[in-house]
Amino acid sequence: MSTIDQSALFRKLPSTDELLRHRDIQPLIERDGHSAVAEGARGVLARLRDEISAGLLDEKSLDLALGGLPAAIERQLRESLSYSLQPLINATGVVLHTNLGRAPLAASALDHICSTAGLYSNLEFDTATGERGKRDIHVDRLFQKLLDDDRVVAGLGPASAQRSSAISTIVVNNNAAAVLLALNSLAESGEVIVSRGELVEIGGSFRIPDVMTKSSAILREVGTTNRTRLADYESAINERTRLLLRVHRSNFEITGFTEQPALIELVSLARRRNLPLMEDLGSGALFDLRSVGINSEPSVLDSLRTGVDVVTYSGDKLLGGPQAGLISGRADLVSRMRSNSLFRALRVDKLTYAALEATLLAYVKRDHDAVPVLRMMRLSKDAIAHRAEKITSSVGAAQSKSALQLDLLNGESVIGGGAAPSAVLPTRLIALTHSDLSADELNARLRTSTPPVIARVEEGRVLLDLRTVFPEQDATLVATLASLT
Ligand SMILES: *Cc1c(COP(=O)(O)O)cnc(C)c1O
Repeated sequence: MSTIDQSALFRKLPSTDELLRHRDIQPLIERDGHSAVAEGARGVLARLRDEISAGLLDEKSLDLALGGLPAAIERQLRESLSYSLQPLINATGVVLHTNLGRAPLAASALDHICSTAGLYSNLEFDTATGERGKRDIHVDRLFQKLLDDDRVVAGLGPASAQRSSAISTIVVNNNAAAVLLALNSLAESGEVIVSRGELVEIGGSFRIPDVMTKSSAILREVGTTNRTRLADYESAINERTRLLLRVHRSNFEITGFTEQPALIELVSLARRRNLPLMEDLGSGALFDLRSVGINSEPSVLDSLRTGVDVVTYSGDKLLGGPQAGLISGRADLVSRMRSNSLFRALRVDKLTYAALEATLLAYVKRDHDAVPVLRMMRLSKDAIAHRAEKITSSVGAAQSKSALQLDLLNGESVIGGGAAPSAVLPTRLIALTHSDLSADELNARLRTSTPPVIARVEEGRVLLDLRTVFPEQDATLVATLASLT
């Protein structure tokens, strides 16, 4: 196309101002505001200009596009003004899926956020005395109920026996921050002894050696990747040693020719040498996972009862609450962390306190099914199978001669989130195959549905695990599947 023809096309384009005066644009301005609509109009016109320059439009197709300008602007607005963060259906069966937001919050946590965060609150104010209060008291009292028992006091040894509360808990932004704060408070410029088998990287570039450097503590590695003995710790202790650290391996296991001292042995070594012992538990359950058949994941209470002085763990892993890092341990050590200026930099907002307080209250009331991740982990295979059958027959009923084939098969759900790496829960899966689509294509169709359905692909089939699908989402899932028949 000649330049002359192109400039004729450019001349047909309205100015932004002309466009904004268009009769069909007025209602958009009323709804979304002048500046958003103006930006949308500029975007749509710029796209047309690009298309003319690229020779993609002739006079006829430009006229067609000009007739559709208000609709194009409306589409552009819908895209730019809609939320980017959106809910979806997690049919992967991975209960704590970091990419999918880890733990969904309990309904009571959402209610508590709604009722406190939109108004002023007593976040740091003591209404009894009229004085400034501390934001951590809202949850510390509940952690005490959950963690401060006779066996914990006994585990901490004689130093804590007389205290009214042996265990304190503080909250920071996430567990990575908790480890950073704890190391900096307890071991700045001193040495921290860690087994080489525990120098782990947890996803999202959290590496123990790097956090150690940032905390200004000096890493003193002992043992080997597969074997570390108590004597290795013992002989590394010197006058610069400030802390013994045990790190939960979280996302991998070392099997075969391995050795690691039992936690109780580390506890007694730390006692003997008058050093604190810290454990980075990672997931940190407040719930006994043995009740769902998982024996490999120690709880926070287990660690404290054994005599670990400080435990760090996440709020949004097995605890099932908001993103947070929790530091529970000997009151005198935690108080050193509270007065560290890093604590101020890592502190959390009222939203987190509200969600955490409500989640912890469910534990105190032993209402475990109120916490979604606990409810999901406690779901029996039979209960899941029952829902899978209902969904399969509803989709089947929608169309008898369908391109989409649904089968049920036994499988396993995983916990995820760096908890119990090899622990699985038995489940019943819906396996999907499609006569016109490959498993990857079918998976992509599900992923781009509204709401997106996230599944896994195995051996040429798409697998749906209802353990992590909320029962309220079953009907939506049926509709999505029916649209693929
Ligand atoms: C998950 C994990 C972390 C990081 O916790 P975040 O809350 O994601 O910051 C640190 N240490 C261990 C052992 C973990 O499993």
